[in-house]
Amino acid sequence: MLTLKMEKMERRGQLIKKLRRIVSLFGIVFLLGMLVFSCKEEPTSIPPSKLVVPIFNSDSAFVFIEKQLSFGPRVPGTEAQIKTRDWLVQKLKSYGAKTIVQSYEMPIYDGTVLPGHNIIAQFNPKKRNRVLLAAHWDTRIVADKDNERQDEPIMGADDGASGVAALLEIARLIHGQSIDLGVDIMLFDLEDQGDLEGSDAQTDTYALGSRYWSENIAPKGYKAKFGILLDMIAAEGASFGKEEYSVRYAGQYVEKIWDLAQKMGKGNLFKSYNAGAIGDDHVNIIRVGIPAVDIINRPMTGASGFGSYHHTHDDDISIINKSNLKAVGQVVTAVIYREAVGRF
Ligand SMILES: [Zn+2]
Repeated sequence: MLTLKMEKMERRGQLIKKLRRIVSLFGIVFLLGMLVFSCKEEPTSIPPSKLVVPIFNSDSAFVFIEKQLSFGPRVPGTEAQIKTRDWLVQKLKSYGAKTIVQSYEMPIYDGTVLPGHNIIAQFNPKKRNRVLLAAHWDTRIVADKDNERQDEPIMGADDGASGVAALLEIARLIHGQSIDLGVDIMLFDLEDQGDLEGSDAQTDTYALGSRYWSENIAPKGYKAKFGILLDMIAAEGASFGKEEYSVRYAGQYVEKIWDLAQKMGKGNLFKSYNAGAIGDDHVNIIRVGIPAVDIINRPMTGASGFGSYHHTHDDDISIINKSNLKAVGQVVTAVIYREAVGRF
């Protein structure tokens, strides 16, 4: 009996030992599993992307408008065109961009042949993920919607210079804070020399510089994920509805930009009404397969839907509203810095 009891006790003891060993083995396996799991987890998970959007300085952008105006109207074929072109190229180079000037001659609506220069400034030219930012830098040769001096060129503080200035400021910001994204600033010439406005206005006589670019793509084989065109972005009373070609061919980007603007408290400018279809430079960007969005002032008052200053001598520095300039500039800056970290 005694030996039987002792045997039983021994067996029980051995069983307990075995169980303990199994438990500790399980523990080790569990811990190892955790270790392997956590080791495996780390490299596959996306590191939290640091998003720092630089502050768009509207004083700096305003000075860039003043500087363009100081050359006079930037009419193709004038000395002001050459001086402005050289200044723009030098400025973009000073911010570290690789620049290309695409020069050409094109007949405008009345057959007059005018020289044009598209200015292309590339940041991180080797990166595959690219965003195109565009504006036109020429000014209209006539003030055909004015009541006075209709045959004289306009200053184009908003129609041309404001979009260019915002992009120069963005170039300055990229120079100060590197961005993990290819950014191409394209300043098109010969946008605003279309047929005289009136009931029989020919919209296809506008945007000639970007049309030339679309038929002679530079740099060769150029591709971008999407594009944003800035045209008349800073006037007093500006209002950005959703332009039809942008909605049709770049709808998801329109929604993303307008949503972001809303979140940034700029819903007073970025509104959801239909702004009509405009034959602006973005149409030629779309033509080469890049979805492009036009941010353009369309208060929809008056016959044309543009602001009352449009193609008149009122389009001078006094029409510029710095806080509107800042709003659009800051939204576009946020778009590219967000895109760079996969958070747009
Ligand atoms: Zn115009």
